[in-house]
Amino acid sequence: MELVTKALVGNRYALARLISLVEDNGADARAALATLYPHTGQAHIVGVTGAPGTGKSTLVNELAKALRAQGTTVGVVAVDPSSPFTGGALLGDRVRMRDLAGDPGVFIRSMASRGSLGGLARATSDVVRVLDAVGFTVVLVETVGAGQAEVDVARIAHTTVVVEAPGRGDEVQALKAGLLEIADVLVVNKADQPGAAQAARMLEMVINQNALPPVGGDRGGEASDNVWRPPILKTIALDGTGVPEVLEAVAAHRDYLRTSGTWAEREQARIETELRNVLQQELLDRLLARVGEEQIQAWVERIAAREVDVYTAVEAISSTEKRP
Ligand code: GDP
Repeated sequence: MELVTKALVGNRYALARLISLVEDNGADARAALATLYPHTGQAHIVGVTGAPGTGKSTLVNELAKALRAQGTTVGVVAVDPSSPFTGGALLGDRVRMRDLAGDPGVFIRSMASRGSLGGLARATSDVVRVLDAVGFTVVLVETVGAGQAEVDVARIAHTTVVVEAPGRGDEVQALKAGLLEIADVLVVNKADQPGAAQAARMLEMVINQNALPPVGGDRGGEASDNVWRPPILKTIALDGTGVPEVLEAVAAHRDYLRTSGTWAEREQARIETELRNVLQQELLDRLLARVGEEQIQAWVERIAAREVDVYTAVEAISSTEKRP
């Protein structure tokens, strides 16, 4: 496929078109992904998540700038399940682009609602795969920390950075959303505002209560006895303070994953989840294409009339093509 060939040699226009193609998930997308697949598996995929307003976009921007300053190429995928827009033309992108515009070592893409969370997670994972295949060394995946979508997206990432801000009660929110359990690096952003130290202490307490691996504040971010200790770091994303330390922690986590064998384990688990999800969706789609909407509705009526129960109906729908 010409688009793939061009994208692989660094043609940005081809890359942007390829990503749109993949987002739309048609037959061409599958062919493209199949061609790209052998080129994947090199990028360090880093998820950045947290509640709206904690400063994730600002932080991701700073992380991208700092990575570029080191000569590392970086792809950014910003995922917003609440936004109906798509196609990389969000206001946020234009703001980001101002700092990073014209740099061929950066590629930024926004992803919005695909109608279902499952659809969004799939599309995100495919777009990340494209950026990995064309050679970006680090791919930052930014998501709004609101629930299951983040947990799904975190499964795509090798390393997950959870962002909090002082004075918001985010510690409790994060706990509710299960965010702390997926955190490999914890960042208290807006450290210029009062209450940052307190927020960091609160996080430490919450994590200890959760019986997660011990967190050692400044001593964190080191793996001992093959257990990763998520560090709690303070940043001021507005001026870049603390950003190098976040990058160090992210790199340390990558090294830990590699040396402990966890990288391969996570990859295996992720592939299995993905295979099962795609298989499930595919089989359901095929079955429904064969059975048809009318038959499904007829079964719904029979179930509602208490003529059959749902399991009997499923048995009939899936094993034979018997009409209700
Ligand atoms: P997001 O919704 O989590 O992506 O947050 P944004 O990056 O859009 O930031 C939300 C607001 O917080 C913006 O007005 C930022 O300028 C501001 N902000 C981001 N980082 C900092 C920081 O370190 N300190 C302060 N005081 N404000 C910040």
